[in-house]
Amino acid sequence: MRKLAAGNWKMNGTAAALAEVSALAQAHPAPACDMLLCPPATLIARMADVARGTAIKVGGQDCHARSSGAHTGDISAEMLVDSGASHVILGHSERRTDHGETDAQVLAKAEAALKAGLIAIVCIGETEAERDAGRTLDVVGTQLHGSVPADATAANLVIAYEPVWAIGTGRTPTIAEIAEVHAFLRARLTARIGAAAADVPLLYGGSVKPSNATEIFAVPHVDGALVGGASLKAADFGAIVSAL
Ligand code: PEP
Repeated sequence: MRKLAAGNWKMNGTAAALAEVSALAQAHPAPACDMLLCPPATLIARMADVARGTAIKVGGQDCHARSSGAHTGDISAEMLVDSGASHVILGHSERRTDHGETDAQVLAKAEAALKAGLIAIVCIGETEAERDAGRTLDVVGTQLHGSVPADATAANLVIAYEPVWAIGTGRTPTIAEIAEVHAFLRARLTARIGAAAADVPLLYGGSVKPSNATEIFAVPHVDGALVGGASLKAADFGAIVSAL
């Protein structure tokens, strides 16, 4: 399977930040992995223009479960496609926490994304309290089962394991802990969608940076990364791309 370095810009970036996209494209014209940047919705179309003809793909950070209608402030999967997006991040822990998104809502959004032709990056991960209580596998297994469409395929699904306590904190699980969760997810995903699970990219996310990327990417069943802070600068993200 082709590996994936995905960047989540979160609520960061105005037009000036598009210079980073040009720099990344120039530095990595033919990377060994797929490169994806997910800017705020305001930049998707402009980033898609800058990325056209380069190795960079563009994605959204959320979508609504409906294709259109009276949902002020929301964006549909069809609108993301229309703006030039190929992927969408769904169920990020910041959305699960800040917007109370449930597994059922993430599932509905993922179904809408697949229907619109997007690749859904479904995020799952335990809180620190859940890890301390020894509930990590239970939590991520439940989230996976509840958030991933049963008819997803290797062509339209990516899973991102992101321990909530590792996001933006500079802390990461041990290599053994990442290995345990990723092996578990591969097995559970097989139970959910069958043999296609073998080719679904499983990303690790949570404080990935150039200095730890090589070690994390050597873990079995880690097929790339979802990167927050270190995706904002072309030099940092490019170094992570080079490590894959
Ligand atoms: C994220 O937001 O998905 C993330 C992993 O952030 P960071 O890399 O900054 O920890």
